[in-house]
Amino acid sequence: MAVSAFALSTLSSSPLRVRSFKEDLQGQRVANDTQFSGNACLQTILGHCDTSLLANADRIVVSPGVSLEEFGLSTLLQSGRRVMSELDFASELLPENIKILAITGTNGKSTVTSFAGQMLHNLGIEAFVGGNFGTPLSKAAKQCLEAPTQRQPYQVAVVEVSSYQMEIPNQHFSPSVAVVLNLTPDHLERHKTMENYALVKCSLFSHMKDGRLAVLPQGNDFINDAFGKKARECNVAWIGDLPGIKVDTAAKVATFKFPSSELVTNLQLGTLKAMGTHNFINAAVAAFSVLGLDVGIDNDSIHNTIESLTLLPHRMQIVCRDAHGVTWVDDSKATNVESTLTGLMGLKEHKLVVLLGGLAKVMSGNVSNGFEKLVELLNDHRGVITFGSSGEMIYETLCDSGISIPCVRATNLEGAVNCARSMARSGDTILLSPGCASFDEFRNFEQRGQVFQKLAFSS
Ligand code: ADP
Repeated sequence: MAVSAFALSTLSSSPLRVRSFKEDLQGQRVANDTQFSGNACLQTILGHCDTSLLANADRIVVSPGVSLEEFGLSTLLQSGRRVMSELDFASELLPENIKILAITGTNGKSTVTSFAGQMLHNLGIEAFVGGNFGTPLSKAAKQCLEAPTQRQPYQVAVVEVSSYQMEIPNQHFSPSVAVVLNLTPDHLERHKTMENYALVKCSLFSHMKDGRLAVLPQGNDFINDAFGKKARECNVAWIGDLPGIKVDTAAKVATFKFPSSELVTNLQLGTLKAMGTHNFINAAVAAFSVLGLDVGIDNDSIHNTIESLTLLPHRMQIVCRDAHGVTWVDDSKATNVESTLTGLMGLKEHKLVVLLGGLAKVMSGNVSNGFEKLVELLNDHRGVITFGSSGEMIYETLCDSGISIPCVRATNLEGAVNCARSMARSGDTILLSPGCASFDEFRNFEQRGQVFQKLAFSS
């Protein structure tokens, strides 16, 4: 992962100057200056950071890829220096009247953020959509600063937030509606324990203005404890109970009740085209959160947007149906066991050949990394192929846990696809839902998905 941090210092009357350093292919530092109007000097440091530069900064804005353990940042923070996240930095500059819908969770964040953004755009509301995926919130702040006061570009900002973005205590990010979708083990190499991970996620609620809406998964002890410690007074709605959102995936209908109202409403989800029953929940949470923003949208108008919702690439993306009658589905973004589990639960109607593998995530004290949880669901399907650096471990775990369908090891993704091709029968679905990170073989999950899609099209 590229290491980056940036330091901001104020120099009155000089223009805002962004200086970034990159290492070129020969390892040389290359400086790149960009001028902005304003009265501060912003220096961007990419790659190795000379800590003496940080000592002279008025503010240090830290990229989410950099942990507080690096470059003495936590000591600087404890000594009272202004060390802040990009999210906090952007929020300080964002006009107060922009309503923020913040979405976090272990899995499904980008999907819900994108669904909420599509609903708002469809209904004519100017919404920024980004944060942890796509465009950073700083870009929205910059656009607002540059726009004339009467012609602000956004009414709403829908912001996906990752746990890395919230490690540094936040002062300015103050959502009107904040959602924690779910919480299952992930990113423990950085947060170490589930308790820490939940506390970081729930810091999303620390700066909500009183009375705002917090949407939480029902029955998650880590979240309940952390919410109690981190949240200010706010209205609470549950994912899975009322007040909140209940989804009947069989009937394809969501029931909504807001904490501040006696009214119970239903939202029909039958027209949703996205694959996987978990996407009914994602669409319902997005709709509820958009309604909670109170920007003049009602249930009927939200209903009209459901049919047109589209999934982001590499999330249950139907790639093609090949000449042999086999459907190929790319869920390369399923980078942990829980997301694969959710995917399998959502595709019970299909006969699957599942491709599992890559670089398994760190799970404290669990050598099998949780893959044994998949066996019961996998046993209803055609077969499993494991691949990549964790392929052997996954194979052993599945065998030790009583897998009763054919299970084959392949060295890499291409080998896995070849095995899957010969295993699948007409009418089956080949599903790439790796349950692992991609970095052993690919740059990222996008590249893994693209390679899978190319191989699918050559079938
Ligand atoms: P994130 O941004 O949190 O990584 P995405 O929306 O990109 O989440 O989805 C990542 C993967 O998580 C998907 O490919 C799918 O397998 C799984 N997923 C999507 N929605 C959910 C959900 N509501 N609960 C659990 N897993 C989900």
